[in-house]
This record gives sequence, structure tokens and C-alpha cells, in this order.
Amino acid sequence: MPRMLQTGMSEVATGVFELRLPIPFEDGLVNVFLFADGGVVDLLDCGMNSDESVSAIRAAVAHVGAKKIRRLVVTHIHPDHYGAAGTIAGDGGADLYLHRLEVPLVNPRYVELEHLVKEVQNYLLVNGVPDDEAEVLSNSQRALSQVVKPADAAVQLDGAELLDMGRKQLRVEWTPGHSPGHICLYEASEGLLFAGDHMLPELSPNIGLHPQSTPDPLHEYLDGLKRMAAYEPLLILPAHGRPFQDAAGRVATLAAHHARRLDQILEIVSSGEKSAWQVALELWGPREHFYEKRLALQEGLAHLQALAVEGRLEKLVSPVSVRWRPPRAKA
Ligand SMILES: [Zn+2]
Ligand SMILES: [Zn+2]
Repeated sequence: MPRMLQTGMSEVATGVFELRLPIPFEDGLVNVFLFADGGVVDLLDCGMNSDESVSAIRAAVAHVGAKKIRRLVVTHIHPDHYGAAGTIAGDGGADLYLHRLEVPLVNPRYVELEHLVKEVQNYLLVNGVPDDEAEVLSNSQRALSQVVKPADAAVQLDGAELLDMGRKQLRVEWTPGHSPGHICLYEASEGLLFAGDHMLPELSPNIGLHPQSTPDPLHEYLDGLKRMAAYEPLLILPAHGRPFQDAAGRVATLAAHHARRLDQILEIVSSGEKSAWQVALELWGPREHFYEKRLALQEGLAHLQALAVEGRLEKLVSPVSVRWRPPRAKA
């Protein structure tokens, strides 16, 4: 049975409203959060820059009796979270708060695409993707820029800041991995964790090594999960899917999933030196959709890198190739 997608708004804590927005071209929803405080509202994430999505936000702001969006805090710059930033936080609009490691990703990804498209193409080639596929895959970058209208950050976050959002006070938690400057927001008095894409109830978020990632995203991601679970939040409010409660259980499931994948990849490379593309094909089989192929390669690379960092694999690089092999037995 197809999953029913229910857009709309609900109050998830006193004065905190979850608004479910459509994601154009995708079969899914993104949850953004409104924090009401009399005539103003603060917003966590803003959906894609489509008329339907932006009108839904404006209607929600009016519905809670507010006239103005004061702050827009963005968990990370992926299109479904940051897309409408330029519309909501443009001139005279809200102040945009963004982690400083997200700031330098915006221009290459959404404004001056050519350099990043070339860089991604080279990255695909050195990792073993055939020429014709690399051309198509690197161009997939361009489609995303259509649903994103960038804005400059008024405040660049480091992590650990206390932000007044509506009538709540939330702490910024830097949780890199899915994106270099991904943040969660934690409300300590009620134990509310606004988790962005970091901790999702059903999906394992894509953790990839690519030109715009940090150098060891999988370890950082797993570390961030542990830190968030240690708060023992009472309610986790994710950006996709429904709110849930068992952070420790979810983190254990996600960690086990990645541990299994690390073992699978180790097994694949045990037969001899390979490129990441070969590993991804063996692991996932040929993918139909170009976007899935790129995600599979990035995800495979994040695991390969983690294994190399742990000394369980060797990584060999040259200007034209990146290869992975089992460690040589020590003499
Ligand atoms: Zn994301
Ligand atoms: Zn997302």
C-alpha cells in the first residue's frame, strides 16, 4: 500500500508547530517548525523554494497569529531545508542563522555551478565511474539549483549557542556527517530534540564522502548520534517522518546498520584492490536512477574512508585514481 503523505500543521509542544511541506519532484515531505511568540514567529528550516511550499509557510504564520518571521534557523543547506531561504530571509525578511561550515557550500552548489560540476566530474572519474556516466552524474548537480534561492547568513553558528526560538530556548548542537555544518536544536527543559536529517525514524540518512563533505563523515556522524542519545531526549522531532521517542534504540539500530555495511565492504575489498565504484556496484548492484548512483558511490566512499582511517583498509591515491585494498600483512 502506498504511504499516505499528510501535509498540514500540528502543535508538537506548547507554542511549537510542525508544518509538513511538499518536496517538488520527490515522493516525500519535509517538516519545518514554527516557534510562536505573539506577533512574531521563529522558523526552523524553510522547505524548497516553490510557490506551494512558501504559501503554506505564510498561511501557517498567519494561523498562529503572527505577522512576521523573526529568525530562520536552517539545519543544513540541502534544498528541502534551505531552498526558500532567499524568499523568507531576503531583504527586510528574517535573519538567517546557519552553521559556518554550511556557508561556503552555498555558492558553489547553487550559484556558480561550473567549478563544482567539474570538481564532481573529476571526483567521479578518479573513483572509477566510466566517462559517459561521470558526465551525466556530474550534471545532476544543476537540477537542484532551481528550487533553491540562497540568502546570506546574518549569524554564523559554531555550535553550543543558546537561541531564543518563540518562547523556548534551544541549544545548537553541531552534528556533522550528513552535511558538514548540520545542526540539531535541543530544548533541555522538555527534552525536545529537533533532529533535522541527523536522526530519522525510518530512513538512514545519506552519509557520503564527496568534494563538499568533511573528510571522515561516517565517524563524525556516529559520534554525533551518540552525543544526541546521551541527552536522553523525551521526544525527537525529525525533518522527515513522524516524531518518535526512543533515541537510544534508534541510534543502536543506525549504528548496527553502519557496522554491518562496514563489514560487507571489508568483505568485498578482501578479494583485492578496487575502486569505490566497483565496491558500490557489488554492494548495491546497478542503479537505474542517476541520483541514486551518485548517492551509492558517496555512501560507499564514506565507509571505505572510515575503514582506512581505522587501519582496516589501505587507501592509494594518484591524480587519476583512488583505490582501496586489504592491509598488507606485517612482516
Ligand atoms: Zn539533508
Ligand atoms: Zn532532508
